[in-house]
Amino acid sequence: MQTEVVLAIGGNKGDRADFLQKAMDALSRQATLVGYSQIYETEAWGGVATSGNFLNQVVLIHTEMDPLVLLEVIQGIEEQLGRTREQHWGDRTIDIDILYFGDQVWDTPSLTIPHPYLAQRGFVLQPLAEILPKKIHPVLGKTSLELLAECTDQGQVSVWKQER
Ligand code: ADP
Ligand code: MG
Repeated sequence: MQTEVVLAIGGNKGDRADFLQKAMDALSRQATLVGYSQIYETEAWGGVATSGNFLNQVVLIHTEMDPLVLLEVIQGIEEQLGRTREQHWGDRTIDIDILYFGDQVWDTPSLTIPHPYLAQRGFVLQPLAEILPKKIHPVLGKTSLELLAECTDQGQVSVWKQER
């Protein structure tokens, strides 16, 4: 059975847009890529990162994998793209998070779905609301647009345009 899965991808090290593209290419080899948001640029979040602003994007896939297998796959892609896990919320070439897995709710040590910080992050809610405005958060019972309207994240999020 195919499940609709929503992923957030982002990074702030190296050629950021190229890492997003490479992550999407890798995902599309392992699942069916159904859609993706524009790229958004965001101030570093969590007060740890130092390399500068993040680029973030939300990606929609269809997959037959179960959540834990998908988690392994995305961690494999992160590794392949040179991510080192030094600091929680620190600089990274690529971070891939599972926002939604259909309407499933998971709360285990290695996996929390919906993603625990989804509703607090403007850089997640903005691209999410762009591609899935009416998707309802299975725990909070609110749409992406409602969550975005209620979010108090002060970080600046804007659509990113490739520099020429
Ligand atoms: P963060 O994304 O919070 O900056 P990491 O990418 O280093 O941090 O992830 C840390 C751990 O978060 C992973 O090892 C993974 O087991 C766990 N995790 C829990 N829920 C999720 C989720 N929904 N998507 C991705 N990782 C998750
Ligand atoms: Mg992560």
